[in-house]
Amino acid sequence: MSAARKRVAVVGVGTMGSQAAWRLAARGAEVVGYDRFAPGHDRSAAGGETRIFRSAHFEDTRYVPLLQHADVLWEQLQQETGRELRRLTGCLLMGSPEGQQMATVLDSIAEHGLDHDVLDAESLAKRFPQHRLDDGDAVVLDRRAGFIRPELTIQTAARRAEQLGAVIHRYTAVREIVPVANGVEIRTDAGSEHFDAAVVTPGPWVNDLLPDLPWQVDVRRVISAWFMSTAPDAWFGEERPAFIRTSPTHWYGLPSPDGVSVKLGLSQALHRLADDPNQLDRTVRPSELEIYRDLIGRYLPDLCPDPTRLAVYMEGYTESSRPLVGPLPGNENVILLAGFSGHGFKLSPAFGDIAADLALNGSSSQPIDFISTADRVAA
Ligand SMILES: Cc1cc2nc3c(=O)[nH]c(=O)nc-3n(C[C@H](O)[C@H](O)[C@H](O)COP(=O)(O)OP(=O)(O)OC[C@H]3O[C@@H](n4cnc5c(N)ncnc54)[C@H](O)[C@@H]3O)c2cc1C
Repeated sequence: MSAARKRVAVVGVGTMGSQAAWRLAARGAEVVGYDRFAPGHDRSAAGGETRIFRSAHFEDTRYVPLLQHADVLWEQLQQETGRELRRLTGCLLMGSPEGQQMATVLDSIAEHGLDHDVLDAESLAKRFPQHRLDDGDAVVLDRRAGFIRPELTIQTAARRAEQLGAVIHRYTAVREIVPVANGVEIRTDAGSEHFDAAVVTPGPWVNDLLPDLPWQVDVRRVISAWFMSTAPDAWFGEERPAFIRTSPTHWYGLPSPDGVSVKLGLSQALHRLADDPNQLDRTVRPSELEIYRDLIGRYLPDLCPDPTRLAVYMEGYTESSRPLVGPLPGNENVILLAGFSGHGFKLSPAFGDIAADLALNGSSSQPIDFISTADRVAA
């Protein structure tokens, strides 16, 4: 059978699945997607209006070529659909240059010649007076960075896939993925369908759907919190970069598209486990807000520390923070993409493209050895 005629299932049409459906359909595959809800819903890892896109990486410089591939595909998806999915407003990366994360940022900028400005305390105070620094903090403005609209992106990629011939079954949970001769069978409450291959992108439901997964993916409950600014000109003037800071913990913020509020989020270490993705606790307790109050008081004093909006999502984290990308052991026809550990959205078009490579050709020319399932040690 030629690659162009392969029948491929996409299980979970969320962040990664919608992009995989687009890339597979663009290459002529016969694509059938399944989602337990519908593309663009807010009960999973995506939602909350914004995600940060950046060119430099805190975790590992090996992500930079994948970010560059994603960058090209972000532009392509916008051009094909006429939708503004991403706006390049820059992103301030801030923290102690002695720390591993800022060192990786500086390495990725140097190794790949990324477009950036270095700011000292004085120029930061002039250009971005809303921020306070700790002594000795380094500040870099990643210029090819900004925000992405997650709900719009997922719906747009899914619709583009449908325009290219994909069929998406909404409100249809996949119960089982069964390897069979020449492919894989997808079982839902409505019956089962045979495919040549399946791209499996269930996000926080990965352990539910694949209970025998040989790797550990911890599903965590992640809070987003929105705060009003008393100095909107600083946040919403001509320059309105997002920011990521590495101290006293890893945390980030984005001026919201509403033009009045700033969304803040915290690092993995501060998210508690979500025991059951079907019973996500969406209530945020006052004690969970103390850290925001503290960070605002120390670093963003113009924000009013009483949040105007709170939302709770889920995300799968691996121990190394590196996602799992590639075939399941012993089954080349089931391509897993999971465990994006809080940093997958910006890369999602690249991961969708890589999923299409793996499902249609069995390999990818993208540099994915470091995230591949192939050499991953089981938990
Ligand atoms: C609050 C928050 C902020 C973040 N900020 C950033 C950021 O600024 N930048 C960044 O790059 N990344 C960020 N991330 C990470 C990024 O959003 C995630 O890595 C990414 O969304 C994960 O995508 P996914 O496809 O694995 O999961 P999802 O987008 O959750 O998709 C999984 C889909 O599978 C479906 N599904 C599950 N089980 C089944 C089943 N059995 N049958 C059918 N369908 C099923 C679900 O309904 C869902 O639609 C953030 C994450 C969170 C939670």
